[in-house]
Amino acid sequence: MQAVQFTEHGDRDVIEYGDFPDPEPGKDEALVDVKAGALNHLDVFTRRGLPGVDLEMPHIPGSDAAGVVTDVGEDVTRVEVGDRVAVTAGVSCGECEFCRHGEHSLCESYHLIGEHVRGVHAEQAAVPAANLVPVPDDIDWVTAAAAPLTFQTAWRMLMTRADIEAGESILILGASGGVGQAAVQIADYAGAEVYATASTDEKLAYAEECGADHTINYAENDFASEMRELTDGRGVDVVVDYVGPETWDDSTKCLAKGGRLVTCGATTGPKAETNINRVFWKQIDILGSTMATLGEVDDVLSLVWDGTFEPRIRETLPMSEATRAHGMLEDREGFGKVVVIPDSER
Ligand SMILES: [Zn+2]
Repeated sequence: MQAVQFTEHGDRDVIEYGDFPDPEPGKDEALVDVKAGALNHLDVFTRRGLPGVDLEMPHIPGSDAAGVVTDVGEDVTRVEVGDRVAVTAGVSCGECEFCRHGEHSLCESYHLIGEHVRGVHAEQAAVPAANLVPVPDDIDWVTAAAAPLTFQTAWRMLMTRADIEAGESILILGASGGVGQAAVQIADYAGAEVYATASTDEKLAYAEECGADHTINYAENDFASEMRELTDGRGVDVVVDYVGPETWDDSTKCLAKGGRLVTCGATTGPKAETNINRVFWKQIDILGSTMATLGEVDDVLSLVWDGTFEPRIRETLPMSEATRAHGMLEDREGFGKVVVIPDSER
């Protein structure tokens, strides 16, 4: 088969699209004929190399994909040949204390397809059957491939961890990013008053289309002072910050008393200073969130399939242009998901 791959970590020019041995499904796996894959920032971080992650080379990147089941291992009963499926990347053991409580993304051996093991940006992928979600016939492959990672991440972060309620106010930083656009749509769906930041007016207009009630251009204005003004000094109930050190301190300033700061990542680095006085005086909760349980994945994807949520697409490229696809994420050009299609499917 043809696969996007790299044999060493590095800049985007390490990426190649070429021959790779056909994968064979293990006994609890299904073989998927990939129709479309989508990129996440994780693909860029994985390609550059993540501390503590030692990959078997060559590595195939990619955590999001959708396609048709063409073969199944002997123990598989969840899916059968011919099924339309989307891949959800989080692999859990099903047996540890956290899995037994249904907390799959807390699994002791939790790992992600594409980050810790070979991914799905290839003509075929062998994936645990538990990681496949049925895709209805009327859903196109691009939508099915673009939704799983970002929508499950935003869904668990807002609905389970921050537990947002109708009428609450929420500030979403980086609202035009993959998780950001999903978070805006989900917060709007939950009935929250949504404040969104982005770096250009074009991106802000896009956040408004996704459901933001108020927008702030953080490149032109100090968003913390802007938020103080917009909320008459009260602040918001929830802040979503996956930016990290660049925004963390301001995010705690933007919270109302009793507010929750929720994070699912740190794109500007892992270490930030926290003003502890502000944490106890305002009685702030700081909440981490990663991916989602398998049940949460089913819940949010059913709302993508019925049209409640829509992953916005920036560009669809052949897999042979994966280098350019990575570049679009790294250079933060535009907004929406970048999708790659096997050249043989175009
Ligand atoms: Zn487990």
